[in-house]
Amino acid sequence: MEKFLEQCFVCGNSNFSLLKLISQKPKNETYFGFDKNRYKREIKKCDHCLVYNNFHNMNLEDLYNYKYNANTYKGNIIFNFNKIMKLPYEESDNKNRVKRIIDYFREKSVALERISLLDVGSGLCVFPAEAIKHFATVSCIDVDQITIDHAKNNVGVHEAIKGNFKDIELNKKYDLITFNKVLEHIPDPSDLLIKARDLLTENGIIYIELPDGETSSEQGGFLDREEFFIEHYTIFNIPSVKFLAKSAKLSCAVLNAIHEPSDKYTIYSFMEKDATYGIKK
Ligand SMILES: [Zn+2]
Repeated sequence: MEKFLEQCFVCGNSNFSLLKLISQKPKNETYFGFDKNRYKREIKKCDHCLVYNNFHNMNLEDLYNYKYNANTYKGNIIFNFNKIMKLPYEESDNKNRVKRIIDYFREKSVALERISLLDVGSGLCVFPAEAIKHFATVSCIDVDQITIDHAKNNVGVHEAIKGNFKDIELNKKYDLITFNKVLEHIPDPSDLLIKARDLLTENGIIYIELPDGETSSEQGGFLDREEFFIEHYTIFNIPSVKFLAKSAKLSCAVLNAIHEPSDKYTIYSFMEKDATYGIKK
């Protein structure tokens, strides 16, 4: 591990507290084909923004190719989609998520049937499939063609865009942009939020979910909890989510830590454009 490469993925600082050195793949972590003799990771908490960074020298681009090139993925997407769609409310992270979002808008007396939603990184598309029952339009964007075909053909979203959110040019504005367990998978989460902010309508909202490193490490340590697995560059706590929002000129209108039906520890936030930004004092 080359020290000069270690910069916090959220704030760019280089002062950390080492919390855990991991030299063996945790039992429940997906095997991505890495050489097991070279497996080495460090969980380091940033002294500045307090986010947990997952540092290692394994290439995550290879990781996603390995995962998504697997022939089984395509055949399984419908099976897994149907299985998760069938979960009752008490067992469904997605149904609880949709309820949180609906409650938020109802409290603000915003008519749901007027809302345009863009979901970034839709994966199995369970969330868009639940959201489409309530909102005016549901769009999704994903790098994976299998997801895009599934979103169009099985879920019936209004717009399915193939590409990397960071690179793609979008000409519309949205009332709601969602990042459900997406930002922890990329090395520059602030850049995506900045881009999303520019795609919001005047009173538009960003909803994000991130892994909660504080509660999950208290409850299960750094080794066995999926929140800290290799796929995540960053794992959060309340102060680091606030920092992330601020770095994108957003403010957290709602910010909470929850334990989900699937056993994930998660922090969610509704972020709005920071009205104080740019105002001269
Ligand atoms: Zn930091």
